[in-house]
Amino acid sequence: GRSHREDRLTVGVVGTGYVGLTSAACLAHLGHRVTGVDIDADKVALLRRGEVPIAEPGLGELVNARLADGSLSFTTDLAGLATAEVVLLCVPTPVHSDGTTDLRAFDAAVETLSDVLDRDCVVVIKSTVPVGTTERTARALGRATVSNPEFLREGHAVHDFLNPDRIVIGATEATAADRVAALYEGVSAPVLRTEPASSELGKYASNAFLALKVSYVNVLTELSERLGAEVIDVAETMRLDPRIGTAFLSPGPGWGGSCLPKDTRALLHAAKQAGVDFAVLADAMAANRRQHERVVEKVREAVTGSPDGSLAGLRLGLLGLTFKAGTDDVRESPALAVAALLAEAGAVLTGYDPGVDRTADVRPVHVVDDPTLVAKDSAGLVLLTEWPQFRALDWAQLAELADRPTVVDARNLLEAEAVTRAGFAYHRLGR
Ligand code: NAD
Repeated sequence: GRSHREDRLTVGVVGTGYVGLTSAACLAHLGHRVTGVDIDADKVALLRRGEVPIAEPGLGELVNARLADGSLSFTTDLAGLATAEVVLLCVPTPVHSDGTTDLRAFDAAVETLSDVLDRDCVVVIKSTVPVGTTERTARALGRATVSNPEFLREGHAVHDFLNPDRIVIGATEATAADRVAALYEGVSAPVLRTEPASSELGKYASNAFLALKVSYVNVLTELSERLGAEVIDVAETMRLDPRIGTAFLSPGPGWGGSCLPKDTRALLHAAKQAGVDFAVLADAMAANRRQHERVVEKVREAVTGSPDGSLAGLRLGLLGLTFKAGTDDVRESPALAVAALLAEAGAVLTGYDPGVDRTADVRPVHVVDDPTLVAKDSAGLVLLTEWPQFRALDWAQLAELADRPTVVDARNLLEAEAVTRAGFAYHRLGR
């Protein structure tokens, strides 16, 4: 059984957000004894009661099962990690607009840990950190420190943690690497052992490449429009080539979320610092900003009938606020980037998102909890997140409620024919 595994490790997890809480619950599930630590006392109180503050399928069940058998606990006190054999750092590492990384939370955690940890404890950096941070942390702590980046997708966090595409272990000492490998005993995935710098850089390289793919296909939406092509078929042509792959080729309002934008900025900054020209990355970022503007241009034209029409004072309804379907995360959401531009142009915005609560603060958008409320008296609807349930809305009823039944589908999600039959003027990107 789970609680009797021979190689059971005593594990500490610092930071209990998307990555930390998922890691803590899954490592307890794999049979380890895990303590999650967070500076947010309210969050710790919630977690102790088995209440999970983020929307991740299966996470609540795992947390409650492991709380119940005592293999998982939560505290605000880093001193609780004194007996840990492995400590995972999962604190936020936000990136400023100039590409420099804010390591205050990370450094604060490291500083506190240095007084607490056992000499033999192996420190594992799961946070995404600039190249060199693992070696610097090893020196600061005087303990073996290993880079082990996390690749989970929000909305699939538990699944991805337990079924990763790869486990990357960047270490200078084989024994420390062995201990990290032992954490994942029972998970089947290729394990890549490398030195810390490669591990750190590999994480940025992977995320930035995904951003690049999306920007590539988004530029093709504009080109398709100009040349009379259908971007959906252009993208499908690419997808059918296994060398290109099927993922991250859906046209949309731009890439976003809590990782891609910040990791791309950080990688570009690292390249600049190192004197390496990474123009394709800068171009992908510029194309992303351009894509937000393109959605606004579409909306302007669709709603006013003219490329220079004014949006001032017009009520627009937004369908989708999160950066992608299946999550409650709105950090650096392209939907909100588009919303900001629409608001700048004077539009008055109401938004509905299945993952976002009415009480959420996503100014300038007024959040409602019912899609009919975004349609009511609207001059146009803008679909910004690919929630499949938007397809099944009662579009005839929405058309009744709208002032001008017009929809701009920035995700190519809706069935044009059905929405048009319901009475909407239907617009989208890439045709
Ligand atoms: P998050 O904001 O969801 O959670 C971070 C948690 O750390 C919060 O609960 C916060 O209260 C806590 N915290 C902050 N400072 C602390 C401190 N000094 N001591 C203890 N706890 C502290 O962040 P996240 O999305 O889980 O991201 C964490 C790291 O993982 C980042 O470096 C991120 O780039 C990386 N990452 C995130 C994802 C993702 O999908 N979210 C995927 C891969 C990697």
